[in-house]
Amino acid sequence: MKNFGLDIWSNKNFIIEDGEIKLNYKCMPSLLEITNEIRSKDVKGPIILRFPHLVKRQIKTLYSNFSKAIVDNGYRGKFHAVFPLKVNQFPAAVEAITSQGKKYNYGLEAGSKAELILAMSKTPSGANITVNGFKDKEMLTLGFIAAQSGHNITVTIEGLNELETIIQVASECSLNVPNIGIRVRLHSAGSGIWAKSGGMDAKFGLTSTEIIEAIKLLKDANLLNKLKMIHFHIGSQMSDIAPLKKALREAGNIYVQLKMMGAEALSSINIGGGLAVEYDQHILSNERNYSINEFSSSVVFLLGEIMNAKKVEHPDIFTESGRFIVASHAILITPVLELFSQDYQEKLLNFKEKNPPLIEELIELTKLLNNANCIEYLHDALDHMESLFTLFDLGYIDLQDRSNSEILVHNIIKKALYLKSANPTNELEELQSKLQERYLINASIFQSLPDYWGLGQHFPVMPIHHLNTTPLRAASLWDITCDSDGEIAFNPEKPLYLHDVNLDEEDYFLAFFNVGAYQETLGMNHNLFTHPNEYTINVTDAKYEIINEIESKSILDILDSIGYNKDEILNKLKTDLLKSEFITEKEKNATLAQLETFIQQNGYLRTTN
Ligand SMILES: *Cc1c(COP(=O)(O)O)cnc(C)c1O
Repeated sequence: MKNFGLDIWSNKNFIIEDGEIKLNYKCMPSLLEITNEIRSKDVKGPIILRFPHLVKRQIKTLYSNFSKAIVDNGYRGKFHAVFPLKVNQFPAAVEAITSQGKKYNYGLEAGSKAELILAMSKTPSGANITVNGFKDKEMLTLGFIAAQSGHNITVTIEGLNELETIIQVASECSLNVPNIGIRVRLHSAGSGIWAKSGGMDAKFGLTSTEIIEAIKLLKDANLLNKLKMIHFHIGSQMSDIAPLKKALREAGNIYVQLKMMGAEALSSINIGGGLAVEYDQHILSNERNYSINEFSSSVVFLLGEIMNAKKVEHPDIFTESGRFIVASHAILITPVLELFSQDYQEKLLNFKEKNPPLIEELIELTKLLNNANCIEYLHDALDHMESLFTLFDLGYIDLQDRSNSEILVHNIIKKALYLKSANPTNELEELQSKLQERYLINASIFQSLPDYWGLGQHFPVMPIHHLNTTPLRAASLWDITCDSDGEIAFNPEKPLYLHDVNLDEEDYFLAFFNVGAYQETLGMNHNLFTHPNEYTINVTDAKYEIINEIESKSILDILDSIGYNKDEILNKLKTDLLKSEFITEKEKNATLAQLETFIQQNGYLRTTN
């Protein structure tokens, strides 16, 4: 894996220089310098870094590709995009999206009451709000309130009952009626692991029969002039473009039919989200078979073609891409706390005045090992180790001898791997994965990479420094939850190799990339680990600046958030300690102060240097 697959997943957002990974933007800070600055303020656990410029880049890419496709195809509708809040509702993420999207009039999409309230308070004036998902009368009334408050809002109905409720609310009050959209149930389904949103058995959308009924209801209620949009969403992380094309043909023709049925105000097609992100570190285009350029030109071309054939005015095109917009903007950085086979360190060798002859030979092999002889010497070493184990079992050598031989052989294998790192033999590769190193990371996979836990979604991971040395240790990653699922195991088909570092002497940081979509609110507080500290980083030509710092919940706050009474807990701990015996008052008070500090911090470990 050359450069940890940077050329595959990073979209040129990062480069490796001087052994560190740097932002490929303006003053090009390295992730290590940012991390070190943050850690110098006594932050020890995992951190999330957000880069608004990466959101801007995605928004710009989306708009410029669609603008180009519109010009190239002589398309006469406009392009609009809204951001689906469910993909990341965190304040700093939403702030990055709305501020970076301002010049495009970029709007927000809501799928629940809470998200709708958020959209109503954060959508810049003039930008669009779209509303999807199941709705009750209250949620639909919120749509009316948004329209009355001046928002450009379209409420997409998922079923006829929602439409009936809209008609009822409209008759009961004199608030502005929001624009109405219809989610259509497509016969064609999506692709990829999230493809449950399309197809005849989809969870959402109106069938043809229901659409006809909807038009009748709207006409009767004198609200047909409010029908502005039809909507579909074929699922997230679309791997193949073919189902989208099918869906576009189907939706395009439904649009045409509705126009013919008298839906004169109907003016837009919302194609939902689904644009995929490259997460693979090993094989290019494993995740998707199309580019954003192909995606936008297919959408514009197909819709234009359908409308031209039926002489229908070109509709405006809406997208609700979420993952594509925000995945890249957030990076999780985790310190490594421990390498489990550090016990094989050379400094732990403890030779005797007289060592068993096979150990003396291992010492010789270690000294003489070079590129030309290393395979042969490696075989000798493995052979000696077998013999030494047998000698131990028979009682001829002691535990100290055995420990020495394990360390020596381990180091011979490591050196051989290093010498042959450019072109390892099959045997070496096998040895390597047997000698897997377990890296304990100061993070929770449940909290920060829930899609890895739930769906096996891989996220690009790499060290942020040491990048001018070849990593040789086959690595599996363990998190600090006490759950055996909190592990990213070594996968020989998609191997991860990390560096052999001595954590007593230096820090070692791993970064997980593309974690900006879905992971943050899906993340769970298993073992009561909380959302990590997060920092928004503004990068300019001259410098980088940490502009927003949000601390993770303290131990007391997380207990409070699941319903415990903070004061009660604090009091109980204090009284128990105060009534304890056999320590001085002075020590009691010092211990109390210590306890208070501990519970005001988050629960991540603080043992790294
Ligand atoms: C989830 C969702 C999206 C976002 O999908 P992405 O794959 O993140 O682009 C868009 N629209 C609707 C209706 C959704 O439910």
